[in-house]
Amino acid sequence: MHMFCYQCQETSNRKGCTETGICGKTDETANLQDLLIFCLKGLAFYARQLSDEKVKREAGVLTTECLYATVTNTNFDSKRIVEYIKKVLAERNKLKGLVTPSGLEETENALWEPEDDSDLFKKSLIVGVLDIKDPDERSLKETVIYCLKGISAYAYHASVLGYHDDTIYEFIFEALYKTSIPASLDELLELTLKTGGMTVTTMALLDKANSETYGAPQPVMVKTGVGHKPGILVSGHELKDLELLLEQSKNEDIDIYTNGEMILAQSLPYFKKYPHLMGNYGNAWWQQTEDFASFNGPIIVTSNCIVPPTEEYKNRIFTTSVAGFPGVKHIPEVKGKKDFSYVIEAAKSCDPPKDLGDTDFMSGFGHQFLESVTDKVVDAIKAGKIKKFVVMAGCDGRDVRRTYYTQKALELPYDNVILTAGCAKYRYIKKVKGDIDGIPRVIDAGQCSDSYSLVAFALHLMNVFGVKSINDLPVEFDIAWYDQKAIAILIALVTLGVNKIKIGPTLPEYFNQYLAKKVADRTEISTVFDE
Ligand code: SF4
Repeated sequence: MHMFCYQCQETSNRKGCTETGICGKTDETANLQDLLIFCLKGLAFYARQLSDEKVKREAGVLTTECLYATVTNTNFDSKRIVEYIKKVLAERNKLKGLVTPSGLEETENALWEPEDDSDLFKKSLIVGVLDIKDPDERSLKETVIYCLKGISAYAYHASVLGYHDDTIYEFIFEALYKTSIPASLDELLELTLKTGGMTVTTMALLDKANSETYGAPQPVMVKTGVGHKPGILVSGHELKDLELLLEQSKNEDIDIYTNGEMILAQSLPYFKKYPHLMGNYGNAWWQQTEDFASFNGPIIVTSNCIVPPTEEYKNRIFTTSVAGFPGVKHIPEVKGKKDFSYVIEAAKSCDPPKDLGDTDFMSGFGHQFLESVTDKVVDAIKAGKIKKFVVMAGCDGRDVRRTYYTQKALELPYDNVILTAGCAKYRYIKKVKGDIDGIPRVIDAGQCSDSYSLVAFALHLMNVFGVKSINDLPVEFDIAWYDQKAIAILIALVTLGVNKIKIGPTLPEYFNQYLAKKVADRTEISTVFDE
């Protein structure tokens, strides 16, 4: 076995990737990512004892960035992971000198010191998921780690816009520390469930950051056609990168398009001042090899998902922020600035994008807008015109059985309304037509983090109908998962008291019987396909 990773839905044979990742991650990168997690636990050992809030926050931002870099399809570049490891070790050693000894025994994570780079690679071969021998303990600790990765992704985006909630960083430090020491299964279960609450807190922070920076989303008909000028395609979740690119390219006679999760920008008022922000090009992440090849111009990937580029576009794809791929040019942040001029110049000599012949569709239904049309929604429910909301949010993926979501969406009775967010929607959003008294039959909130809008609206409806439980609303949950953010959201739904959730296409491999049973005491979880 060269590596062990089972963090995503695609994991090999529903057991774990052991030679190389199905996603394209090499054993070297996988092992280095394990070492990065190991080192972050050492950093957390000291960070949780810090009294200096400023230093604590800096350590928090670094921790969230590093955890984000280990999310599936985010960073495949061993060199960048090594840089992160060195940065974390330096930060850990700095913090060690700042805290007063607490009497706590220092963990191996807090003490390990490489002599040189070769030491670092050697260590990466012997740390990882399988260090934890007890399967129940491993299942719980890894679920905590994967939820922390999801929380970190959202917290990191918020921090880029200058928004922080120090309780989130404190929770991450505490949870990382607790996964590095012996703990009872009860303690670990409690910690796992706490990640659900913290996921909601973090999504709320990001919602606030996005809305206060770029305005609350407004429903918009998203254009999927193309213009006659060369374009740059921006993918991933980092809105700040799109903002910088739009500003730097506004007088350059090129167009900018969004892809995948960046679609959120189409509905944010701030971006309307850039007429060269064209429509949304392409589909979910796993179709990027075809979409990016057809685009003809440069592509900038700002976070997950990037998949190994093909020959057709490997010379015109770029990464920035947490994203990385070996051999792909990375646009770094230097002294708080990013320079996209190289990409803009490259675009000018490219052909315009090829029209994919896609259908335009509605998006941008944030909780602020949904709350403003509450009367309309309540009237439709009371009149029996809307019988049920079906939450079909989450991630898309390559598993062929995911056609289940397309079929389900197309076969729903007309009086069922789909609530969605994230890239799962690309399975059906261009196909499900119609509205109920002006309420579209697919209500798309935006990125996966905008699942928060769906939760906030459900809580709002609970107030309006005067019911005590989310289960008293006509809502059904049929969630699609692929990466670690989706599992953080799943645990959030469990902690919110949702009594029945269908997740698909399969259950996470790291959800062993113990955890599944304990979760089932609160929430009945079924899978689309059991194996
Ligand atoms: Fe395998 Fe998924 Fe891990 Fe990639 S992220 S190595 S596909 S389990």
